[in-house]
Amino acid sequence: MSQRFVDEPGEPYSFYYVLRSGGQVYVACPACGEAAEILMKAEAEDCGKGLLRCLSCAYRAIEPDKGLRYAASGVCDACGLWFNEAVADAGRITHKNAHVACPNCGADQQVPLRKLPGGRVFGSVSAEGTDPMFGLPLYFRDRYKGTPIWALNRRHLNYLIDYISADLRVKPNGPTLRAASYRLPKELKLAKNRSGVLKVLMRLKQRSNRT
Ligand SMILES: [Zn+2]
Ligand SMILES: [Zn+2]
Repeated sequence: MSQRFVDEPGEPYSFYYVLRSGGQVYVACPACGEAAEILMKAEAEDCGKGLLRCLSCAYRAIEPDKGLRYAASGVCDACGLWFNEAVADAGRITHKNAHVACPNCGADQQVPLRKLPGGRVFGSVSAEGTDPMFGLPLYFRDRYKGTPIWALNRRHLNYLIDYISADLRVKPNGPTLRAASYRLPKELKLAKNRSGVLKVLMRLKQRSNRT
């Protein structure tokens, strides 16, 4: 029986969307290598800062202040993916445009700058699966024939398993520009790679059941 899967609209598995909607992103703890969670800290004195805490050891960290003041966003002319990166104001920004390396493919892009409200950062997970807040590797991260596979959390992992398992992948209804699969590398979407990619995802799913 063929399996039909309707993709989710928008980018529900983007780093900031997950954190802002109260979810967690799991990275490898820099102290012990086990799962550590990143979440938005609710306490007022650190309004809106990210918190990292290990589920196995006592390691904790607060989002470092990178002095970022501007956002540079656009569609990369090399890989075609939309990006939204924060740029630091080191007192040297005198132009309305800035050179930014595309977070997905690394190509140099010249894009207009936009002031960030309250200095908030809008980064995205790198193609290799490194978080933009602490620079740590995601906990659910592996490779299939050299192509990185990663998930922010268990919900994202389950989404990927459903998406990859489907014989027929359908775009969501409505005037949506992007769907959740937008950032998945093409190699992972190919039918011939389905069982291999699924094996990697299922192996990731076996990791810590504390997440
Ligand atoms: Zn730890
Ligand atoms: Zn690119």
